[in-house]
Amino acid sequence: MQETMMSSQDLMKLEDKYGAHNYHPLPVVLAKGEGVYVWDVEGKKYYDFLSAYSAVNQGHCHPRIINALNEQAVKLTLTSRAFYNDMLGPYEKYVTEYFNYDKVLPMNTGVEAVETALKICRKWSYEVKGIPTNQAKIIFVSGNFHGRTMAIISGSVDPQSTTGFGPFLPGIEVIPYNDLAALKEALEDPNVAGFLVEPIQGEAGVFVPDEGYLKSAAEMCTAKNVLFIADEVQTGIARTGRLLATCGNCDCNNGCENRPEIKPDILILGKAMSGGVFPVSAVFANDDIMMAIKPGEHGSTFGGNPLACAVAMEALEVIKDEELAKNAEAMGIIFRSRMNEMIEKTNLATLVRGKGLLNAILINDTEESTTAWDICIKLRDNGLLAKPTHGNIIRFAPPLVMNAEQINECCDIIEKTIIEFEKHM
Ligand code: PLP
Repeated sequence: MQETMMSSQDLMKLEDKYGAHNYHPLPVVLAKGEGVYVWDVEGKKYYDFLSAYSAVNQGHCHPRIINALNEQAVKLTLTSRAFYNDMLGPYEKYVTEYFNYDKVLPMNTGVEAVETALKICRKWSYEVKGIPTNQAKIIFVSGNFHGRTMAIISGSVDPQSTTGFGPFLPGIEVIPYNDLAALKEALEDPNVAGFLVEPIQGEAGVFVPDEGYLKSAAEMCTAKNVLFIADEVQTGIARTGRLLATCGNCDCNNGCENRPEIKPDILILGKAMSGGVFPVSAVFANDDIMMAIKPGEHGSTFGGNPLACAVAMEALEVIKDEELAKNAEAMGIIFRSRMNEMIEKTNLATLVRGKGLLNAILINDTEESTTAWDICIKLRDNGLLAKPTHGNIIRFAPPLVMNAEQINECCDIIEKTIIEFEKHM
């Protein structure tokens, strides 16, 4: 095809001319990926330190996942839910046992799964909790990121997400993140149906809440018969060093019943469910909640398609077989220790935070500055791809298949780049 012969510059121009300008990508055009590496169209090799926003946890083009995709693709790809298919039942059994819930509702993208969770929560609140019709309220927290649809941005406090898109969905209240007193007050309203939270706020800049916040929040919700809804689209599936970030310190990594932290009433997953191979998302709940949804009340043509089922089962098997949660924890410890050593040598980076391989460094400049972006350009030049979440925060989230030698080499690149950058400021 003619396009494959084009240069990076030509390909960027094409996107600019024919694509909507709803993204501002770092100027690098990728053509190939394998494990922790990606290559641009000119053949330059990079470490991927974004993993498609934590979707490619199992590494690029994992051979087992690609094989599952290929094998299923020639058999059956889509039936819709108008008919049964031979993959959905086995998949549903597999994932509900994997994450320890009675039921799963399969969707495709992360935001669809969050929307689905909100609908399940509202339906449950009218049918089971007994909130008067159309009075249900769901609590969001400030700094959240749950995707881009109208319902979801109705709970956003980010002006970039909301400006020019009103009017917004009613029935949403936003309280501060990591603030149990604010939650306590909000829960006094008897019409509160659910509390939606990311265990670690990824897009906001990898904000890790205080120890005990999630556990206390979940207990407070239970006491008020309010559903605790965890959006683990970004934190889930081994990223933070545990199977789920809500697993807390339990390292059994099998989604067990006896979590020392919490078991969300509704769990939302996406991204790495498929290792970044195919859009697969899911909402999990037990029967008392999930059975509030009846036939015809919610769905998606592609949700639960045979291709997605085959890919997701293999992607989740890879997580266990390769012990990626354990590896993420071990590599994360090296990463943060190396970054803390770097911070001693520079005034440009002031803090590293995160869990497992979901981390960020804080750059000593304002949120409105372009410093983090400019550093990411230099990182690219030095062979490592990362993206700022704000003007002064860079997220570092490589595939979880990274080994110690590679993470140390990456830390060398980051350190060298930041120290050089500071010299030329
Ligand atoms: N929820 C969280 C916590 C996310 O980080 C994201 C995406 O980054 C989403 C939901 C939306 O997922 P998607 O982009 O697949 O719709």
